[in-house]
Amino acid sequence: MTGTTQDDYTDRYARRVRGMTTSEIRALFAVASRPEVVSLAGGSPYIAALPLDAVGEMLNKLAAEQGASSLQYGIGQGTIELRERICEVMALSGISGASPDDVVVTVGGQQAIDLLARLFLDPGDVVLAEGPSYVGALGVFQAAQAQVKHVPMDDEGLIPAALEEAIAEVERSGRKAKFLYTIPTFQNPGGMTLTDERREQVLDICERAGLLVVEDDPYGMLSFEGDAPRPLRARRREGVFYVSTFSKTFAPGLRVGWILAPHAVREKLVMMSEANVLCPSAFAQGAVTQYLSTMPWREQIKVYREIYRERRDALLDALRDLMPAGTTWTHPTGGLFVWATLPEGLDSKAMMPRAIAARVAYVPGTGFFADGTGRSNMRLNFSFSSPERLREGIRRLSGVMEQELAMRAVFGPAAAQTHRRRGTAAADAPGPDLA
Ligand code: PMP
Repeated sequence: MTGTTQDDYTDRYARRVRGMTTSEIRALFAVASRPEVVSLAGGSPYIAALPLDAVGEMLNKLAAEQGASSLQYGIGQGTIELRERICEVMALSGISGASPDDVVVTVGGQQAIDLLARLFLDPGDVVLAEGPSYVGALGVFQAAQAQVKHVPMDDEGLIPAALEEAIAEVERSGRKAKFLYTIPTFQNPGGMTLTDERREQVLDICERAGLLVVEDDPYGMLSFEGDAPRPLRARRREGVFYVSTFSKTFAPGLRVGWILAPHAVREKLVMMSEANVLCPSAFAQGAVTQYLSTMPWREQIKVYREIYRERRDALLDALRDLMPAGTTWTHPTGGLFVWATLPEGLDSKAMMPRAIAARVAYVPGTGFFADGTGRSNMRLNFSFSSPERLREGIRRLSGVMEQELAMRAVFGPAAAQTHRRRGTAAADAPGPDLA
């Protein structure tokens, strides 16, 4: 097959791939990574805050002194040393008494979500997820040919009554949801946190409905105002799969995450992971183990918290000072993101090319819904840019919005919405560098 085009392959794709389309938004993200663009689009931690010289020395030693094991294949479940450390990390969040035997080390939180999807989802199955939800998880569920039903949130996170209604609606359609996928703490993209009271309600509702819970918690330790509410898994041992990662507390480049699973299914998860990656990187696991054993990692989390709190404040101040009337946004008490709602009539997806031309980027809300809604929303990241850059980004963004509003006032809605096309979450997914 010389000189083949994409069309020559299209008919051969597996069914699960056929729904995946690319979009104009993806192309724009390539431009958004240019240095002159203030990117509020990414999800990258501020790695420059790590003591990189010391980390380098540590990695050097890991190869020189433990290379025989750290550069070798490992076991599918992950090393026992790291799994023990992971149990200590979880204990800090309030999950006490977890056994290293029930921990499965994964290639980032992303593989953890993928393994759970492979374990539980058949084509056509229903997953309940917050609306909006993490774009990378929506991509996983789409690849599994599952249907996502979104459950609305407010400032206190997932709305329990809406969860009950969603479960009932799925049942009325003759189906059953397989699990609730939730990010209860410092949500991506919403920034909101499920309150203590609602955590208990959500768990009770899921228990009554026989619904499993996948709790995704990459951000729980990045709290700016006291400790976050205890995870769902700290409240119930059975029926809850806890997923987390070292991507936001240490470094995403190492790609180390984990699942704490009910004991009965841990073995199946390991088998799925072996079929998927054989074993997680021994070197990356060694790096995390060394980091947790020999370096002041708790202090480093405090450093990240301080930097992000200052940046969150800078972003919220800039939004308050500069955004056009009618814009609203969330006030996260941790994590990396603010979720903004635009004034009536503005379309975040249609506006994106003009924002890029004005040298500012964000992720349109459509990327975070499986059904293409979210045009009046955008996700703004505050972890990566300095407070000054954040303010400049919001200044540019508000300029674009003012212009759109003026165009609408003069020419009507059509003038401001030239790019109307229904998107899907996977198509709008910003790509791994912008997770
Ligand atoms: N879950 C959520 C909610 C996330 O925001 C991310 C990354 N942005 C992930 C999972 C994936 O994390 P990792 O980089 O460890 O794969």
